[in-house]
Amino acid sequence: MDFQPKWIAWEVTRRCNLKCVHCRSSSEATSKGHPDFSFKEGKRIIDDIRSYATPVVVLSGGEPLLRKDVFQLAAYGTEVGLRMCMATNGMLVNEKICKQMKDSGIKIVSLSLDGSTAEVHDNFRHQSGAFEGVMRAASHFMDNGIEFIINSSFTRRNQEEIPHVYELAKSLGATAWYMFMIVPTGRGQDIMDELITKEDYEKILNWHYDMEKTEDTFLVRPTCAPHYYRIVLQRAKQDGEKMKRRSLKFSTGGSKGCIAGQLICLIDVDGNVLPCSYFHLPAGNIRHQSFKDIWENSALFKDMRDFKNYKGRCGNCEYLNVCGGCRARAYSMCGNYMEEEPFCSHIPVKPVKTHDGGTIHNE
Ligand code: SF4
Ligand code: SF4
Repeated sequence: MDFQPKWIAWEVTRRCNLKCVHCRSSSEATSKGHPDFSFKEGKRIIDDIRSYATPVVVLSGGEPLLRKDVFQLAAYGTEVGLRMCMATNGMLVNEKICKQMKDSGIKIVSLSLDGSTAEVHDNFRHQSGAFEGVMRAASHFMDNGIEFIINSSFTRRNQEEIPHVYELAKSLGATAWYMFMIVPTGRGQDIMDELITKEDYEKILNWHYDMEKTEDTFLVRPTCAPHYYRIVLQRAKQDGEKMKRRSLKFSTGGSKGCIAGQLICLIDVDGNVLPCSYFHLPAGNIRHQSFKDIWENSALFKDMRDFKNYKGRCGNCEYLNVCGGCRARAYSMCGNYMEEEPFCSHIPVKPVKTHDGGTIHNE
């Protein structure tokens, strides 16, 4: 695998106009000690990235539209040759914002939608009117010819909604729908008992496989469900057919399940470079080091690329090179990012040694 930065999420503010139950950055209305960086610093960061690579850069937050200069950042990134995108909760989107998005060269926008009704979505997002905000934003994007993706996060609280949210995302005219089972970080840690069980996770990924096989109007993908790559191979073999997978032009191409620190990373508002949005361990800080230095030399990124040193079932798994397990879940649940993915049910063909000296066999 060639470890090139293909996709960078950039937290341009920690401030947010919502207070979602699963927020990875525990964002709220004020920046609480994590102020926005200046426009001058933003330009310096863009130049630093561009001097090394040409990734997709997703302006993210918090809520990026709360930054007054967000479109100047987008326009500058576009000007120097980066493909700029944006992730928003949709609440502030209107005709003027759509025009600014287009003028600044934003290529695609992602919207968050966690329920097919106002009741479910607003409960998840802790804000009445949030659902209406997403519907309005989707309609503005359609009217203005702006491509958008719908990202949906699920816990036990809304897992029954999955097929309905998929249908709604399609009917809204989205280019893609990405289903995501939350990783317990940020405020997500307060809802450990709401995490979908690994047995249900397996069933949901199998549902997704059946759906994806026949879905030909828009793109679908479970996000950060690396073991879906195992399920695709297992099911295709079992059903005696090869599934054709399509990929979005602004994605990383879907070469492997978990690509944190391998093809993607996140830069937070304080300049920390993290493996992904859900993995809160810095590989370095771009206020003190170049992006190139962090990407190529950080011990954390080197570890994460060293697949043969992964532990437990992942380390012994025949699907390791296509999956890799979620390193953020391993870190948050086991305290060691090299440990096995805690939400995978697979028992590898090779026997696996357990911590207490026993062995797990695939019967
Ligand atoms: S570690 Fe990998 S699978 Fe887990 S949340 Fe990050 S990118 Fe997704
Ligand atoms: S054991 Fe690990 S590498 Fe294997 S399929 Fe499960 S998560 Fe992926």
